[in-house]
Amino acid sequence: MNLRFLAAAALALLALAGVAAAAGAGSPRSQPQSVIGESVKGRPIAVRRVGDPKSDLKVLVVGSIHGDETQGHRIVRRLRGSYGERIKGADFWTITTVNPDGVATGERRNAHGVDLNRNFSHGFDPTLDGGYNSGPHPFSEPESKAMKRLSKRVRFDLAVWYHQPWGMTLVPCDRTSRYARRYARVSGLGPGRECDVYAPGSAISWQRHRFGTAAFVVELPGRRLHAGEVRRHARATVAVARMLK
Ligand SMILES: [Zn+2]
Repeated sequence: MNLRFLAAAALALLALAGVAAAAGAGSPRSQPQSVIGESVKGRPIAVRRVGDPKSDLKVLVVGSIHGDETQGHRIVRRLRGSYGERIKGADFWTITTVNPDGVATGERRNAHGVDLNRNFSHGFDPTLDGGYNSGPHPFSEPESKAMKRLSKRVRFDLAVWYHQPWGMTLVPCDRTSRYARRYARVSGLGPGRECDVYAPGSAISWQRHRFGTAAFVVELPGRRLHAGEVRRHARATVAVARMLK
């Protein structure tokens, strides 16, 4: 074995190691990000799947719909990292935000001044104004339309939508309350005293009514979450998904 051969062998090994590292950097089990629609200003709304894409159990996790409530993005990031790679038996569809224009400007509403979480058709209330401006008609906004298309296509079993700043898990008033209660226990973010009567035209009311999705809202506190809290919330989404298996 001469020196030149050794050098060549070492280079080959380095090249192999480089490939392995590159493969490890992206998750082997997470899917590439795909764009499901665009905002008013043309910003992409992207979804990334983690967990088991072949599973029949479909889970949606949305980091934010109000642009000034962004702590849920960190939980989505956690699910998309090494933690998400270990999810088994559920196909998680994660979306950082369905309101990228609002996030870019730190605004609750979209670039048309519409509260996207009042723009869905179930219980749509055309009289809402100001911060809760519901828009001219249901699904008038490209962002809510994108979520409508995705929900029709995937038919989620479970959907968790993050908001701020109430600091409680909102427990629905019906038989699906056990999922939100479980979420509250695992995440450590307790439920409110009363059960949740959904906001008119909200995303969860539409998903529940239209598809029977066990959809609920988690109102994170108004402050920045600690790293341990982010981990617990990510774990809570998986714990609830397990109940649906
Ligand atoms: Zn909100």
